[in-house]
Amino acid sequence: MERCACVERELDKVLQKFLCYGQHCERGLEELLGYVTRLREELGAAALQRTPLSATLSLVMSQCCKKIKDTVQNLASDHKDIHSSISRVGKAIDRNFDADLCGIVPAVVWESQEKQILVMAIIEHLYQQGMLGVAEELCQESTANVDVDFKRPFLELNSILEALRKQDLEPALSWAIFHRQQLAELNSSLEFRLHRLHFIRLLAGGPGKELEALSYARHFQPFAHLHQQEIQVMMGSLVYLRLGLKNSPYRHLLDDSHWTEICETFTRDACALLGLSVESPLSVSFAAGCVALPVLMNIKAVIEQRQCSGVWSHKDELPIEIELGMKCWYHSVFACPILRQQTTDSNPPIKLICGHVISRDALNKLINGGKLKCPYCPMEQNPADGKRLIF
Ligand SMILES: [Zn+2]
Repeated sequence: MERCACVERELDKVLQKFLCYGQHCERGLEELLGYVTRLREELGAAALQRTPLSATLSLVMSQCCKKIKDTVQNLASDHKDIHSSISRVGKAIDRNFDADLCGIVPAVVWESQEKQILVMAIIEHLYQQGMLGVAEELCQESTANVDVDFKRPFLELNSILEALRKQDLEPALSWAIFHRQQLAELNSSLEFRLHRLHFIRLLAGGPGKELEALSYARHFQPFAHLHQQEIQVMMGSLVYLRLGLKNSPYRHLLDDSHWTEICETFTRDACALLGLSVESPLSVSFAAGCVALPVLMNIKAVIEQRQCSGVWSHKDELPIEIELGMKCWYHSVFACPILRQQTTDSNPPIKLICGHVISRDALNKLINGGKLKCPYCPMEQNPADGKRLIF
């Protein structure tokens, strides 16, 4: 924290100077323009009268030239001053943060194929955040080949969400009705919630909307068995329509939070249905990196200090386990108890017939004369009987 504060202080100084510089510049240039205009007028008049320059005019002219020179010099020195402040920010960053991340990131990350994955993650993030223009621009500049099929779900979800934020339920409702079957399979209550919001909006319209609200209530029929209680509450609220819902025990129905909730429900259920993650992979990785980076920097320093830099090979593994918190738990991983390496697609976990699990690399190393002896129990078996496990 202290490190950030130090850089922030330097940044503040630069901003302050920029502000002053802007004001100085403006004032200096205005003054100069004034001089030049006056000079031009007087010279023009002298030329018209075909008279040689008077002593006064010569004096004004030389004063003017001096003034111009001074102003330019002042601006240049101000500029230099700002420049030195900017370089102080850079130095503060260098001093307070370790710029050398090479030891932590394997160089292969920046090679063309891996880099393409990074570009795609950034593009996906931009689409997911609804920054469509920036995403398009990046696609063009990075010459990333983005399929129309890749973009389509993001564009669709964004336009529906945009409408929902403006309290326009129509696009979301047609989407939910179109995907009714799939949403039901996901146990989603999205369509019911959208109808409910439409109904509440009719209620908010007062007694004049009573008939319309009653007839709209027919939309709840398919959801009656799942949301009976909520439907009863809405029907009950009709009793207070003439008095005004605001002063009734049902005033919570008008709460604005329903609109925030519906946006969240829509995003969650639509992403689940389309096989997209609710949070962009880039922001998840970034958040995880913020937690992991300081730990990795420390490990790197220790490894260098003890002069055992060959210990960490970067091959799909970290030198130690880093706790990222429950939020980052997605799936289980398996580390081979023999080789102490995390298993991967190319080196998957294998379950032996005795029930013990080791990695394929370990299994291959343990084969002796076509037979395998389990390192734990130690049952002798045919290596081909082992079955791959998926975690
Ligand atoms: Zn065994």
